[in-house]
Amino acid sequence: MKFGAHVGSSGGVSKSVLNAMDIGANSFALFLRSPRQWAAPPLSSEEAEKFKALCSQHGYDPARDVLPHGSYMINMANPDDEKAEKSFGLFLDDLQRCEKLGIGLYNFHPGSVIDGEKSDGLEKLASYINRAIKETSTVKIVIENMAGHGNLIGSDLQDIKTVIDFVTDKSRVGVCVDTCHSFAAGYDISTESGYKEFWDKFDSIIGRQYLSAIHLNDSKAPLAANRDLHQKLGLGYLGLDVFRFIANDPKLEGLPIVLETPVKDDDTVYGEEIKLLEWLQGRKDDEEYAAKREALAKLGASERKEQMEKFEKKSQKSKKTVKTKRQVKIDESPNGTQKKRKVTTVTTAIKDESETTTNQ
Ligand SMILES: [Zn+2]
Ligand SMILES: [Zn+2]
Repeated sequence: MKFGAHVGSSGGVSKSVLNAMDIGANSFALFLRSPRQWAAPPLSSEEAEKFKALCSQHGYDPARDVLPHGSYMINMANPDDEKAEKSFGLFLDDLQRCEKLGIGLYNFHPGSVIDGEKSDGLEKLASYINRAIKETSTVKIVIENMAGHGNLIGSDLQDIKTVIDFVTDKSRVGVCVDTCHSFAAGYDISTESGYKEFWDKFDSIIGRQYLSAIHLNDSKAPLAANRDLHQKLGLGYLGLDVFRFIANDPKLEGLPIVLETPVKDDDTVYGEEIKLLEWLQGRKDDEEYAAKREALAKLGASERKEQMEKFEKKSQKSKKTVKTKRQVKIDESPNGTQKKRKVTTVTTAIKDESETTTNQ
């Protein structure tokens, strides 16, 4: 199994290879540029050659084992054409960097349709993917599933399927499943039957041939909370079991399985989690395992409690807001049939306000 982590690349992309080595990773992710800035210095040929040389020296195949994470600035589904076009410029630049580095996979967040129609956004995103494929030659564009809902693309597996349907060269598009995002979006993969059900759904909606990578994170927030809050393995609401299923799932063999758990800029913490994943391989649900699961769950207990309180408060609050606004609208409207339609609109608008949109 290719367990790895998202490692730092400050000081140049070639540094990421050494950082991955240091934690005993068999695959790794990195940012090709500062993920929250539009501008980035060009990638020099010297640095690219250094990256490739270090990869081959340390046994990483950049075409299969390296999964860069796209910039958070990218949102090609933006209904504002100028902003979408600017996003595409950055996206293409990232893909060109991949090809210069010999990297075969590129993972990114599909973005948000903001105040536009979902179907328009999905088609717009796909048309940009098609353009990017034409302007590059080898790199596979990997769409990550998301934790949010509503105007955010990719929380529903069907969104990703729709985008892929619009892509002309399907050999150049793939999917990355993030365990935290899946759970937060409402897919309960914490149990053995739920885990199986999720993959059955993935296979029937999207198709297993598109699965290109896994992001491995526990979730600080509860099931279907729509919050993108990563937690260390076994400490969150997912719990350790799903990571045991993953570590022993032959269908995931050969894919980059990349940790993005919170380590506070100390990559060495990933080394311990990679060791934990290796320990889970071939592990039965015995006493020793149960003790480990218990111990990790205990470490995350207070954070889980804190998040559950926030989640409950938020759902209470949003219910209250909907009720108040609904009352106002009913009072304003003199017509019975119109009244009902207006109420629906208001309810939707409020739900949208409470969403977490990371890609603006
Ligand atoms: Zn992820
Ligand atoms: Zn995330």
